[in-house]
Amino acid sequence: MSEESVDLGFLETPEHEWRLHRCYFPSKVGGKPAWLDPKNLPTTKMLECKNCCKPMIFLLQLYAPVDEHEHCFHRSIVVFCCKNGNCYSQQEHQTVQAFSCTLPRNNLFYPFDPPDYESGKAAQSCTNPKKLCNLCGAAGNKTCAKCKAVNYCGRDHQVLDWKNHKPVCGQETNLDDKENDNTILFPEKEIVIESEEELGNSEELQQNDGKCNGHVSQSSSSTSYSATELEEAVGKQSEDKTFTKFKWKIANYPDQVVRFHPGGKPLWCSAKGQIKSDDVPNCPCGAKRKFEFQIMPQLLSYLNVESTIDQATIDWATVAVYACSQNCQPVTDDLCAYIPCFAWRQNFLI
Ligand SMILES: [Zn+2]
Ligand SMILES: [Zn+2]
Ligand SMILES: [Zn+2]
Ligand SMILES: [Zn+2]
Repeated sequence: MSEESVDLGFLETPEHEWRLHRCYFPSKVGGKPAWLDPKNLPTTKMLECKNCCKPMIFLLQLYAPVDEHEHCFHRSIVVFCCKNGNCYSQQEHQTVQAFSCTLPRNNLFYPFDPPDYESGKAAQSCTNPKKLCNLCGAAGNKTCAKCKAVNYCGRDHQVLDWKNHKPVCGQETNLDDKENDNTILFPEKEIVIESEEELGNSEELQQNDGKCNGHVSQSSSSTSYSATELEEAVGKQSEDKTFTKFKWKIANYPDQVVRFHPGGKPLWCSAKGQIKSDDVPNCPCGAKRKFEFQIMPQLLSYLNVESTIDQATIDWATVAVYACSQNCQPVTDDLCAYIPCFAWRQNFLI
């Protein structure tokens, strides 16, 4: 695959909320996960931060079918991350985890034909059969002992949700309609994917003096990292050639939050803290993992993760996600349909 064929992900507010429902196969950031397989979810243990052992929170998901494989007619990669800023101080801490899930066209959960993307009807007939955590939307096997109407992934989230749930616990209120004061989830947006090549390559843009439509015009928005801000974040590494390339590559579309380049190479932010493809651990099935996409630092400014002097915060220069090169399927008696991917976080200051 050529270096040019990179797809970029940009954040957009969907015209209708239902567009982010799982039956429309969304790519999105924040909110609760839109599980492709809503039944055989990752276990609570799989979604624990490997450093602090607290439940990780849903970060984003990309809908990425693979045409060559029948069983990948639908394919979704979900990414979770720890919200404890202290877990991000060490590069080796695995604070970001990703999982892939595939389904053939003929499956238990979705009609054979695609939904009508102009209508919200599909969402109404597509409910979540599995009990989910009232707070984070992950598998919720623990039930509120008092009302037995809501579920949680564990004690942590039950305690955190109590002030929201207490007024309605045991009441006849329709829990689904309740507006939750849910501060643990990241703000929700759709990820819209566009080909970098089709948007226009860098040389053309430079000739046009940056006067281009589409996402370039958004570069003045508050969610974009300017080159200066990036330089400040990287500090002394501004001499780094890798960083110069990084800046140059993203300058035309500074709002990109994801670079999707299956089988390609990640665009590293600096020379330090990279991982060689040979060092990426194999998939549990034994096959090699290949690079899929990377999460850009621009996403951080959207996530409302504010840094204070004495408080560590969620941070990355980039997160590279690698998935099974064979797109393996779960073994038949496996209750989880989500295959662990590998996520490598490159820090700004190493
Ligand atoms: Zn943690
Ligand atoms: Zn939870
Ligand atoms: Zn209750
Ligand atoms: Zn595999």
